[in-house]
Amino acid sequence: MEFEPVIGLEVHAQLLTRSKMFCGCSADYAGAPPNTHVCPVCLGMPGSLPVINKLAVEYTILTALAFHCEIPEFAKFDRKNYHYPDLMKGYQISQYDFPLSQNGYVLVDDAGVMKRISVRRVHLEEDTAKLFHADGASLIDVNRAGVPLMEIVSEPDMHSVEEARLYSLKLRQILRYLRVSSGDMEKGAMRFEANISLRVKGTTALSATRVEIKNLNSLRAMVRGTEYEIARQTKILLAGGTVEQETMGWDEVRGVTVTQRSKEEAHDYRYFPEPDLPSLQVARAWVDEIQARTPELPDDRRERLMREDGLSAYDAGVIISEREIADYFDRAVAAGNPRGIDAKSVANWVTGELFRLMKESDTEIDAVKIDPAQIPELIALVSDGTISNTIAKTVFGEMFATGRAPRVIVQEKGLAQISDRGALVGIVDKVLADNPQPVAEFLAGKETIVKFLVGQVMKATRGQGNPALVNALVIERLKALKS
Ligand SMILES: [Zn+2]
Repeated sequence: MEFEPVIGLEVHAQLLTRSKMFCGCSADYAGAPPNTHVCPVCLGMPGSLPVINKLAVEYTILTALAFHCEIPEFAKFDRKNYHYPDLMKGYQISQYDFPLSQNGYVLVDDAGVMKRISVRRVHLEEDTAKLFHADGASLIDVNRAGVPLMEIVSEPDMHSVEEARLYSLKLRQILRYLRVSSGDMEKGAMRFEANISLRVKGTTALSATRVEIKNLNSLRAMVRGTEYEIARQTKILLAGGTVEQETMGWDEVRGVTVTQRSKEEAHDYRYFPEPDLPSLQVARAWVDEIQARTPELPDDRRERLMREDGLSAYDAGVIISEREIADYFDRAVAAGNPRGIDAKSVANWVTGELFRLMKESDTEIDAVKIDPAQIPELIALVSDGTISNTIAKTVFGEMFATGRAPRVIVQEKGLAQISDRGALVGIVDKVLADNPQPVAEFLAGKETIVKFLVGQVMKATRGQGNPALVNALVIERLKALKS
């Protein structure tokens, strides 16, 4: 019997607001000394009152719209009651039965096949404090408590770990395009929980028991944890056993899932409307205003680069991987347009040399010194014959290192192509005189040796000889020797 997994993901993303979800403390706590971004509200002191962060609500709606969700006119916050040392108030302010959004989807490109993953809801809650366990003691840092946390809940629509991985990457890409979350997993800005069950392949019946895995704090952990859990459940089912419904935690060090507690039901949390906050009436005009802030999103952008700029699906895909790279590319193409430089040649430089040098020097696009308008300038120098393609790569390297204009580099370094016949004839004759053996071979009928001699001349000109002219001159002078 063959099984296939049924996977649903809950993705938590911290929002890039300046202040926390319900108080004025700075949400930018990375690197801050422990317990310095705190106040009575996020410390959970009795008598303190929360105030809703409007921008966090707007970011959640903006994200939900990008996922094609409905935005109901009524939403509210609820108390989710549970006891854990990282939860300052003994409850978390979250959203239960009236979330900010519901019923959306995300398109995922799985090796050229577009798959639609349904998004059940995107809602808003607050992050918890962080616990550190060391030397037999547990320490708590409250800086993270109360940071706005968006939860994106998918339907159990994924049937392979790869689909779950692609879905997660797509979410992160869209969050970054929207600039609502850094998606930085190393800093804990994006975390996962997975629901996994198995069903007999080819059937649509959902397995009754779902196992939830928490503590998946990176994409790698999500992939490993999900793979591990699929294998564990397969083994149990093949042995004729039954999978218990439970909540597991991922142990990153040992690479195993471990039982945390039997699965909670919603009633375990004793949800009730948060009495300290007003419910939300979400006006249509407000939603329209938020929608108008949506930038061009990755799917549309890729389609445009293929349609208008004639890029291949692959090139368009790598250029739109990050919004900043796509913006850089658009600026380079716009600068080249008036000179008739096509987008494809710009794409070649960006996906080729630029990406190579960025990777080599571990440079992000924001730190690249080459002004995008200089890329079409360099292309123009090649197409008007000032420099060869090989020299252009040298010039590009110099542009990358210094940010100087290509024309200036070519002039200062004397890199312009030598297209002067008189200057080249002397060099050709010298190379022929210095290579009597290959010349003799040519005279004996071995014409392929011309290539070697042309290479020697190009070397003597430090790559600056006009290749077509050098080729013609070498043949001409060799033939002169023959007669
Ligand atoms: Zn606070």
